[in-house]
Amino acid sequence: MASHTLFDDAKARLKEALQYANISEDVIERLKAPKSTLIVSIPVRMDNGELKVFTGYRVRYDDTRGPTKGGIRYHPNVSLEEVESLAFWMTFKCAVANLPFGGGKGGIIVDPKSLSRFELERLSRGYIDAIADFIGPDIDIPAPDVYTNQMIMGWMFDQYNIIQRRQVPAVITGKPLSMGGSLGRDAATGLGGYFVIKTLLPKLKLGNKKLTVAVQGFGNVGAHIAEILAEHGFSVVAVSDSKGGIYSPKGLDIKSVRQYKESTKDLKAVYCQGTVCNVLPAKTVTNEQLLTLPVDILIPAALENQITANNAKKIKAKLVVEVANGPTTPEADVILNRRKIQVIPDILANAGGVTVSYFEWVQNRLGMYWTLDQVNTKLEEMMTQESEQVFRITKQHSISLRTAAYVHALNRIAEAIHARGTKDYYLNGSQKG
Ligand code: NAD
Repeated sequence: MASHTLFDDAKARLKEALQYANISEDVIERLKAPKSTLIVSIPVRMDNGELKVFTGYRVRYDDTRGPTKGGIRYHPNVSLEEVESLAFWMTFKCAVANLPFGGGKGGIIVDPKSLSRFELERLSRGYIDAIADFIGPDIDIPAPDVYTNQMIMGWMFDQYNIIQRRQVPAVITGKPLSMGGSLGRDAATGLGGYFVIKTLLPKLKLGNKKLTVAVQGFGNVGAHIAEILAEHGFSVVAVSDSKGGIYSPKGLDIKSVRQYKESTKDLKAVYCQGTVCNVLPAKTVTNEQLLTLPVDILIPAALENQITANNAKKIKAKLVVEVANGPTTPEADVILNRRKIQVIPDILANAGGVTVSYFEWVQNRLGMYWTLDQVNTKLEEMMTQESEQVFRITKQHSISLRTAAYVHALNRIAEAIHARGTKDYYLNGSQKG
């Protein structure tokens, strides 16, 4: 058995930040454990007539700053401990981005690729039946995560409306546009990551040459950030999915790779003109090899625990941008720090997704919808502002970007906890109130 869990790892980052944040013991006490946790069994009638029962979770970690917010993951390795860790990260991510939300997360233990579309729909609706009393626009607002998408959010939203017997668009974000989704939500995590890179690159002094990039995970987030970086003059030389990766030192044509992957599900170095794609020479690499390629920027965009004490010594990138949640273990962090490899932490690098989810929630409540330009302009403004604040804290205390991001978030969460009264207030303050 592992001596420490993912949740212990998540909390280790908080411990480090506590030295630099001006907070009371109340805050530490409050953030030790989730506010509430729901474990559900979801019976699903399979296409062959069998009844199968799946296990699902929804965790609300902390709602001091507002209703909890966080995605739903479908994966065979989902566990309560993973969902708790992801909900913990969401609490800090929403605070870094200054959104009026706390942190939550959900998940189902399932390999979605083994289900038919009908089974997937029954499972998704069954999950909402099971958690309907736990969520709501002012309570907890789900969204997509690994192996869930717009279509699944649409089914879930529809199921919630059936249960409530009315339309409640602000209950879920990442919905299809036709159901009240926001323009720009699909690309938001990748685009937000790009705005963070754009703000921090000149400060991190990686030089002016055309920078090379490797992206692990070519899903929603990974494919978008790869394409956006390629459009802005970066050379994306390697990408991968769960089956492995491709590497071409001269750079990949990411738009074509994406088009080909979408139509065939295969990841290949291709150049497409219209619907005709030609395969180009490229090396195949494993996901492990991709992490240690000679590139300037490494972008983990798949799952947690990818950069570990075993491979951190071999990483050649000068900058790691964590658009996945929790891709670096605390042991690897120490090694990367020692080797002066900068890490833009997940709670800042991938906050663009939840920021546009917030815009979607606002638009749903207003009943008025924004243009793509309005969404992206506001996203850039918020990501730039928070990246600058995090960098300022890094310089102020000579600490890593990760610790600085936690300090920034912790100060905001602490302010909201303090505003409800602290030990100091009750024991030493004026009795007049
Ligand atoms: P996705 O399901 O769209 O894509 C995941 C990708 O990772 C797929 O290409 C899959 O093939 C690949 N993958 C799976 N296992 C892998 C492995 N062992 N090695 C390499 N690649 C593997 O999911 P996503 O929404 O793009 O999420 C990716 C990461 O970004 C997750 O950590 C998620 O929590 C995080 N994230 C997502 C959002 C969002 O808006 N979707 C927001 C913030 C953070």
